[in-house]
Amino acid sequence: MADQRMLQFVVTERDMPEKRDAGERRDDFMEIYGEFVEAKAEEQASRCSQCGVPFCQNHCPLDNNIPDWLRLTAEGRTKEAWEISDATNNMPEICGRICPQDRLCEGSCVIEQSGHGTVTIGAVEKYLTDQAWENGWIEPIRPRRERAGSVGIIGAGPAGLAAAEQLRLQGWQVTVYDRHDRAGGLLIYGIPNFKLEKEVVERRTKRLEEGGIEFVLNCDVGTDISFEKLREKHQAVLVATGVYKARDLAVPGGGAEGVRPALDFLIDSNRRGLGDEVASETAEGKDVVVIGGGDTAMDCLRTAVRQGAKSVTCLYRRDHANMPGSRRETANAQEEGVRFEWLASPKSVHDENGTATAVRADRMRLGPKDKSGRQAPEAVPGAEFDVPADMVIKALGFTPEDMGDLSKDLTVTRWGTLRVNPVTFETNLPGVYAAGDIVRGASLVVWAIREGRDAAAHMHKYLKALEAAEMKVAAE
Ligand SMILES: Cc1cc2nc3c(=O)[nH]c(=O)nc-3n(C[C@H](O)[C@H](O)[C@H](O)COP(=O)(O)OP(=O)(O)OC[C@H]3O[C@@H](n4cnc5c(N)ncnc54)[C@H](O)[C@@H]3O)c2cc1C
Ligand code: SF4
Repeated sequence: MADQRMLQFVVTERDMPEKRDAGERRDDFMEIYGEFVEAKAEEQASRCSQCGVPFCQNHCPLDNNIPDWLRLTAEGRTKEAWEISDATNNMPEICGRICPQDRLCEGSCVIEQSGHGTVTIGAVEKYLTDQAWENGWIEPIRPRRERAGSVGIIGAGPAGLAAAEQLRLQGWQVTVYDRHDRAGGLLIYGIPNFKLEKEVVERRTKRLEEGGIEFVLNCDVGTDISFEKLREKHQAVLVATGVYKARDLAVPGGGAEGVRPALDFLIDSNRRGLGDEVASETAEGKDVVVIGGGDTAMDCLRTAVRQGAKSVTCLYRRDHANMPGSRRETANAQEEGVRFEWLASPKSVHDENGTATAVRADRMRLGPKDKSGRQAPEAVPGAEFDVPADMVIKALGFTPEDMGDLSKDLTVTRWGTLRVNPVTFETNLPGVYAAGDIVRGASLVVWAIREGRDAAAHMHKYLKALEAAEMKVAAE
C-alpha cells in the first residue's frame, strides 16, 4: 500500500516557489524563482502518486529516480533524497533550474494528465541539491585510487564537465581544454543569470578543479594546440565542443549596424554580470527587435528588458501554439513587458546611413502542412508592417561551425555534427569520443550531461583495457 504521506495531490494544490514580481525582476539579473522552505518541499513532494510505471522518470533524459526522491523528501529524509538525485546527475540543481520540465518529466506526470497539476519535480530537485551545498553534504572528489592513464576533454560545457567528473571519480588524470576564459560553456556564457546565477555554475567547476581536474582555458584546440598533439598527450579524448554557427538573417539590410547575433549579445551581457569590461553597447534606451521563437530568443528579449530597452518586440513567423520556446519562458517574457508579434516574418531591415532604424515584416498565415508535418507559414499579400528598431537581434538557431583541424580526420554527418557509435559515443578514431550538442545538434543541458556520462563510462572501459594491456606487457 502506498505511504499515507504520498498521493496528497487530491487535497494539496500544486505550488511553485515564489516568483518575483515582474515589475521588480525587470530591474535586475537575479534568478526569478525563490527556494522552497523545508515544509513546502515536503508538502509538494507528497503530491506524487508513486506510479508503478513512472512516466516522469521515463521522460527524464537522465532516467532520474524521481518517485523515490520525492517520497524521501516527503518523509523529511532530505539527505537521502539528495543522494538518490545526485546518483544519476552531475548537476541536479542546474537541471532543476533550467530544464524545460513542461516538455520532460513534469509534462508526463500522471497527476498533470488527470488535471490536478504536475508535481513540481524541478523545484524539488533544485531544493535538494541547494540544501546539499548549504549543509556541506557535497564532498570533494577523492578517487579511491589514482590511475596513470590520461584523458583530454575539449569543451568545458555540461557534456565535458559531466564526463570529466565521472572519469576523475575513477582515478584517471583529466585535463579539460576550453577556448573561453571561464569553464561552463553555455551555462556560463549563453544562459542568462536570471535563469541560472553564475555562482551556481562556478561552485561546480571549482569542485572539479579541487578534485584534481586540470583546466586549460583560453586554449582553442586546433589553433593553440593541434588535435594531433592532444591525441599524443592523452590516451583518450572527448570532443564536447557544442554548436556555435548562428543561422543568418538573409534579408536586405541584414548587415546594417545594430544587427547582432544572439550569442554575442548574451555573452557580452553575461560578461558584464561577471564584472568584465565590455565595449559593445547595451540595449538601454533602444527599440529592440528579436527575431526567432526559441529559448535563445526568449533569453535575448528578457535580457534587453533588463538592460533598460525602450521597447522590446519578438517577431516569430508561426503562431504562439507553434513556438519552439518553452511556454514557461514565453509567459515570463510577456509578464516582463515583451511584445510578441506572432505570424510575422522579417522582410528587410531599414537603415539610416547604414544604421538600423526599423524591421519591415510580412504578416504570415499558416498554410498547408509541409514535409515535416507542420503547417508552413506563408505571407499574406499586402499585409506588411514596420517595427521601429535600432537594435535587431538574430536568434534563428545554431548549427555546428566548421571544426577545421578537429574534423579533418573525424567523420561528420550531413548536418555537420560528429558521427559516433550511438552506444559507445566513440568516433571513427579509436580512443576519440564525442558528446553533447556537437553530436545531437543544438539541444538541452540535461542531454549534454547524459551523453557526457555515457561517453565517460565507455572511455573508462577503453582506458582500463589499455591499462590492462600495458600491465601485461610490463609483466612479460
Ligand atoms: C542562449 C541559450 C540558452 C539556452 N537555454 C537553455 C535552457 O534554459 N535549458 C537547457 O536545458 N538548455 C538550454 N540551452 C542549450 C544548452 O545550453 C546546450 O544544449 C548545452 O550547453 C550543450 O552542452 P555542450 O557541453 O554540448 O556544449 P556547450 O555548452 O556549448 O560547451 C561547449 C564548450 O566547448 C568550447 N569549445 C568549442 N570549440 C572549442 C575548441 N576548438 N577548443 C576549445 N574549446 C572549444 C566552447 O567554448 C564551450 O565552452 C541554451 C542554449 C543557448 C544558446
Ligand atoms: S533532470 Fe530535468 S527532466 Fe530530469 S527530473 Fe530533473 S528537471 Fe526533470
